[in-house]
Amino acid sequence: MRPERLNPLFVAADSLKGVGPGLARPLEKLGLTRVKDFAYHLPDRFVERRAVANLDEASVGENIVIALTPIEHRSSSGRGPFRVLAQDAIGNVCAISYFGRASYSAKKLLPVGEPRWVAGRLEQYGQMLQMVHPDHVEADSAGLLGQLVEPVYPLSEGLTQGRLGTLIEQALAAMPELPEWIEPGLLAKMQWPTWRDALALGHRGLHAAARDRLAYDELLANSLALMLVRQSNRKQSGTPLNGDGSRRARLNLPFPLTGAQKRAIAEIEGDMAQSAPMLRLLQGDVGSGKTVVALSAMLIAVEGGAQAALLAPTEILARQHHETLKRLAAGTGVEIALLTGRDKGRAREAILMGLLDGSIDMVVGTHAIFQDAVTYKNLALVVIDEQHRFGVGQRLMLAQKGRRTPHCLAMTATPIPRTLTLAQYGEMDVSKLDEMPPGRQPIDTRVVAVERQEDVIAAIGRHLESGQQAYWVCPMVREQENEDLAAAEARHAELQMRFGDAVVLVHGQLRPEIKDAAMERFARGEAKLLVATTVIEVGVDVPNATLMVIEQAERFGLAQLHQLRGRVGRGSGKSTCLLLRGASLSETARQRLALMRETQDGFRLAEEDLQLRGGGELLGTRQSGDTPFRVASLEQIQKLLPLAHDDARLLMERDGGLTGERGEAARLLLYLFERDWGVQLLRGG
Ligand code: ADP
Ligand code: MG
Repeated sequence: MRPERLNPLFVAADSLKGVGPGLARPLEKLGLTRVKDFAYHLPDRFVERRAVANLDEASVGENIVIALTPIEHRSSSGRGPFRVLAQDAIGNVCAISYFGRASYSAKKLLPVGEPRWVAGRLEQYGQMLQMVHPDHVEADSAGLLGQLVEPVYPLSEGLTQGRLGTLIEQALAAMPELPEWIEPGLLAKMQWPTWRDALALGHRGLHAAARDRLAYDELLANSLALMLVRQSNRKQSGTPLNGDGSRRARLNLPFPLTGAQKRAIAEIEGDMAQSAPMLRLLQGDVGSGKTVVALSAMLIAVEGGAQAALLAPTEILARQHHETLKRLAAGTGVEIALLTGRDKGRAREAILMGLLDGSIDMVVGTHAIFQDAVTYKNLALVVIDEQHRFGVGQRLMLAQKGRRTPHCLAMTATPIPRTLTLAQYGEMDVSKLDEMPPGRQPIDTRVVAVERQEDVIAAIGRHLESGQQAYWVCPMVREQENEDLAAAEARHAELQMRFGDAVVLVHGQLRPEIKDAAMERFARGEAKLLVATTVIEVGVDVPNATLMVIEQAERFGLAQLHQLRGRVGRGSGKSTCLLLRGASLSETARQRLALMRETQDGFRLAEEDLQLRGGGELLGTRQSGDTPFRVASLEQIQKLLPLAHDDARLLMERDGGLTGERGEAARLLLYLFERDWGVQLLRGG
């Protein structure tokens, strides 16, 4: 299906010279599995070096390239470094130092009496000048003098800059010329290079125009794909549902609906009455009452003589939803079933039968509810309770390919800034629960210096003794995965020594069964303290857990902190969130934590987070996990997404089938960024 001219981009990484089985894992960790991934693996920053004739010309702290001749090897006794004393052209001496295992190769690299070109950072050590682990040592000057600006790539364990650099060079050389998909006027105005040049320049230095062009490509691909989905959606036919209100009238809620809930339900009801399938996102902070809105939508389906399904991201959440819905809907006379991957044999058969003959009105479950074996009599509504992950919106829209397309409602608790809503959900309609049910107790949030950790642990002890539960959250970022994991395990061990078996650990690298088992023990109240990395599942509802400690809180994004904090404050009791902060904080970090104390409004936090991060961040800092993008930074998204969105819309209006010259180029773009599902919809018409 993929156009042939893109084939060189999608060749597997091991076709590059020098990639053997040993590199497979480190490369995979960085997402480098195909040749194009290397071309798009842009440097985080660049080291700029100055070539100097002798040490007098250089200053301490500077990155230099210089010719030095080793005059003495000095091994140290014990744990000190291995030093090579070396002389410049006019007799100044400098030490080149190596620690640990690097010492062995250093002897060979810098033989006494033979001049070498050395690139590295010049430092002062006591009375002496030194370079510690220079970046390069070469016999020949050409390579180093030819590349005084050197890219620094994000690495994983088992890879070096040099190794990765040569692979990237190969990948860049393999890139073909591609026809232009950007509107010529815009390209000229922005002075953007062609696609192939932009890739090459992106690796050569801080070429903002090149980086912007690459980011724009990605944003344009995303906008186009989402528009194609919407266009295809408009052509589908669903089941118009006109609920008569009979079931909803028997819904015996212990509280009046908030204004926001009523509005959302009315919007959903309006959509479901149409024959074009609904594509709506229900956005509402944790605790804003999305469940009742979902249930109302599901009852509308049942009133219309159809079935409804609720898809949860995990089994635990499916079970929780099932229980809640059964309780709330007890008086309505609807039949609600639970179906997960765990159900086997007779029980499962009975549910499948009920879905087929229509005796089951609603089903709650994991993706098992969409397996091939599951056939519905008349499924007219799918509600997806989303994990705070990107991409679910797209998948949801793709679910719209059947004969009779069900209406879709996606629910998310992730408050994201408006620009990102557009990027993630594109053309979906949005209902927002911007009003909290009354009587919610604010969560007492405090910032505590890490020096007071002992006090915090003592407070946890008192808290557990009073019969309540608590969370302890450890940071986890991709760049430091191993260290972070080790730290979380150490923390768990320490807290377990203190509080015994009632302490459980959950992190992303545990097997799902083990993770689920730990979560369930906690949910049932057998485990009292849950130590977790950020994987605590969204939506997990343990009202008795009223204390949360977040370690190294400054390392989290605001939106993430907010999401985590939402795990507490679910019961009627007072809840506390302690943000443990490191000893030294940047001004931005201080402001962020202060903001957490100040507000509990997730949307405000999301917007401010974007402001605070947008400005100060390094060029090209990838916000892995935060956005559906690999190339575009948050800053670029803000700057370029509106442009890309408008451009995509214009293109769709002029050439909705993407058949013209630019349309064809745009198809390439969709394949390039793996938004080819957009193209597939086009073909299906
Ligand atoms: P979320 O949006 O996080 O899924 P839930 O639907 O779980 O929120 O609702 C959180 C809690 O608020 C539940 O205990 C629910 O019963 C309660 N709730 C929902 N709507 C209202 C309301 N209008 N008034 C009072 N309490 C409500
Ligand atoms: Mg919920």
